Amino acid sequence: MNLFINFVYIISAVLFIFGLKMMSSPATARQGNLLSSVGMLIAVIVALMNNGLDYKWIILGILVGSGVGAYLAIKVEMTQMPEMVAVLNGFGGLSSLTLAWAEYHQQPEMPLFVAIVTFLSILIGGVTFSGSMIAYAKLAGKITQKPVTFKSQHLLNGAILGATLLAAVIFCVNPGSSLGYFLFVLIALVSLAFGVTSTIPIGGADMPVVISLLNSYSGLAACAAGFVISNKLLIVAGALVGASGIILTQIMCKAMNRSLVNVLFSGFGNTATSADGNAAQGEIRPASAEDVYYLLEAADSVVFVPGYGLAVAQAQHVVCELGELLEKNDTEVSYAIHPVAGRMPGHMNVLLAEADVPYDQLVEMDDINARMDNVDVCVVIGANDVVNPAALHDESSPIYGMPIIETHRARAVIVLKRSMNPGFAGIENALFFNSNTRMYFGDAKESVQALVAQFKNN
Ligand code: NDP
Repeated sequence: MNLFINFVYIISAVLFIFGLKMMSSPATARQGNLLSSVGMLIAVIVALMNNGLDYKWIILGILVGSGVGAYLAIKVEMTQMPEMVAVLNGFGGLSSLTLAWAEYHQQPEMPLFVAIVTFLSILIGGVTFSGSMIAYAKLAGKITQKPVTFKSQHLLNGAILGATLLAAVIFCVNPGSSLGYFLFVLIALVSLAFGVTSTIPIGGADMPVVISLLNSYSGLAACAAGFVISNKLLIVAGALVGASGIILTQIMCKAMNRSLVNVLFSGFGNTATSADGNAAQGEIRPASAEDVYYLLEAADSVVFVPGYGLAVAQAQHVVCELGELLEKNDTEVSYAIHPVAGRMPGHMNVLLAEADVPYDQLVEMDDINARMDNVDVCVVIGANDVVNPAALHDESSPIYGMPIIETHRARAVIVLKRSMNPGFAGIENALFFNSNTRMYFGDAKESVQALVAQFKNN
């Protein structure tokens, strides 16, 4: 039986790896997701074939968990996905923590190695859970998105971490003693506190990095939990999530031109109005659907720059339709993708893939910037921070240093948004006041629908 279980685990691990590989391209991402899900399904079935399980609790858990999960997945708006991802990461951490707790409760006398991985499972699981709940609350606007900083904060975090490590050493030496149980509870509580104190100083603008980092933590916690219960597949799956989360974190840091240390310890990303952030001034030039139609109709090349507002308006299908109409008019059409546009990694890719935008029309930031001077019209659809030139030259801006899609260098820019309100970073955008920019106000979907109507009627 053991041989069979291990064999199936290898198949599952292979499915995970191929699934992950396929997820790296929008063209194969869906099949990759399916492949990994099948791998997980067969792993769960085989794990349940283990002897001595109490099925009534497992079935109850499956029913309650699936019910809540299905309800949330159906109810969640596309724009709330990042919050959902944060909560799911957090529950992953919590399950590693409770799994380590259950194992320790059953068998407090444990070898040194198991005691160490039990400690890691609690520490990383606890930090992941409470850190993710703070990330959720920040993203959902339930608490302030500003970094919460105070004097001696790093000292406090250092002291908490030092005390945890000290408690861990005493715990691991003699986990079965009565002091061991006390230390176990203490480590769990302190880990939860550390998740809060290490996440509150990180500002809203750094959330992309935090989400992917917490995702990585949840994998590492699962990996440690896999060692606790000697489940090889949990170790492999946890390591894969941990490693891919770290790679994604690196990509996000690079996209925001920040180092991870800087994100975690600088309290950057204050979404309050920045020193110079509201200095953008001048005249704005509103445009009607007809004005925009004439500009687009005459353009040889058009680049759509989607942002969070595209997701809010659910305008992806009608934007794709407009793209097709432009192509029929012999216009070269591209979609410029900024790595942190929207509210979660890959947000724009997901939306545009849903609307069946051809993958070869999606262009990465560096590639589009290289040919921006020759673009006739950039159509910015619900994007703001990712096209804000302050990131390039305003050292006092909270987004200074973040690479942007340099739409201001195009021959003409059309910005679709509802008002002059700022985006996620809470700062004004000088792009809107440039002489080559026209503001086309309204809900993105309705605005693009009006353009489609213009093309069809003319
Ligand atoms: P922004 O949040 O900067 O701007 C979005 C704009 O969309 C707003 O200015 C808003 O203006 C407009 N908008 C909202 N609803 C509509 C609508 N229905 N129709 C038309 N426009 C609309 O988005 P960006 O994508 O440019 O930047 C992403 C920001 O989010 C960055 O600061 C990034 O760091 C941050 N972030 C990214 C994450 C990620 O992983 N991608 C995660 C967490 C944060 P108005 O209200 O006037 O319509």
